[in-house]
Amino acid sequence: MTIATPDIARLAASPDEVLARLFTSMNVDGVYGRTGAYEDVVDGLGRYIGTLRPKGAEVFRFPPVVSRALIEKSGYLKSFPHLLGCVCALGADPKRVTDAVARYEAGGTWADSAEPSELVLAPAACYPIYPIAAKRGAISDTLLFDVASDCFRREPSKDIDRLQSFRMREFVAIGAPVEISVFRDQWMARAPEIAGDLGLNHSIDAASDPFFGREGQMVGRFQVANALKFEMLIPVRSPESATACMSFNCHKDHFGLTWGMNTVDGEPAHTACVAFGVDRLAVALFARHGVEVGGWPKAVRGKLGV
Ligand code: ATP
Ligand code: ZN
Ligand code: MG
Repeated sequence: MTIATPDIARLAASPDEVLARLFTSMNVDGVYGRTGAYEDVVDGLGRYIGTLRPKGAEVFRFPPVVSRALIEKSGYLKSFPHLLGCVCALGADPKRVTDAVARYEAGGTWADSAEPSELVLAPAACYPIYPIAAKRGAISDTLLFDVASDCFRREPSKDIDRLQSFRMREFVAIGAPVEISVFRDQWMARAPEIAGDLGLNHSIDAASDPFFGREGQMVGRFQVANALKFEMLIPVRSPESATACMSFNCHKDHFGLTWGMNTVDGEPAHTACVAFGVDRLAVALFARHGVEVGGWPKAVRGKLGV
């Protein structure tokens, strides 16, 4: 279901220009060093998103790694095993370390000797918040959070809008079904305001997550049929094919059941998250308004404070 249609607007900078001027190659697809000019805009987006923070939301910033157990229990492994990155290490065993380094120095590989640790790379910013909220006991008023982390997804690509390492900021709500569904819908209704503030063309469309395998495709169809996920699409690489820069997700009782989070009436809590793809929004801004921030519309610079 398309709610709004993007008008085909000119993009001021091509993906190659954005790449050349704002990123620097690190010789791995989807992993880039970022220039000061780019980071100034990322900081501006951080401040701007802060002005949108729901009243009463508690702030947490999470590291780029989370416990493997948390991701396993959350169901990520079942749904997106192909995207997950695991931290492996040689550890402290002197023999293992010496053998591995010697093998590398003899022209072989050391990495085979590394063992999976208790850590995985965070695939989204919101996963750690559910067990934290679960410890608070039965929920009477909706719990609101503002969370962020560096995220990793194993989807190497040469496109500037599909990174392996990128930043995500999310507003999360946990509470009774009706309030949670209203939270998600109200944020979707604010998409035109957000896109307008940033001077970006947008459309909203129903979406599904890239669940793994045949069974996963069915879950994806269920998501669309039940309107569980919507995306804000913004032209980044070409005016015609837009990129998901924000998503509006309703998880129903999935995390409530997983973490034993209940509302005061004893029912499983529902959860929703509104995700800002910070790097995608930054790239979209440069693509739309040009690689020189000095040339951007005054109103947009004002909103970002850049
Ligand atoms: P897509 O359909 O483009 O793969 P997604 O559905 O996987 O996106 P979400 O899981 O909803 O995305 O993640 C929240 C937001 O994080 C997305 O709307 C997007 O802005 C950003 N994001 C997701 N994957 C990437 C990526 N590989 N590179 C950069 N940003 C990303
Ligand atoms: Zn989320
Ligand atoms: Mg994806």
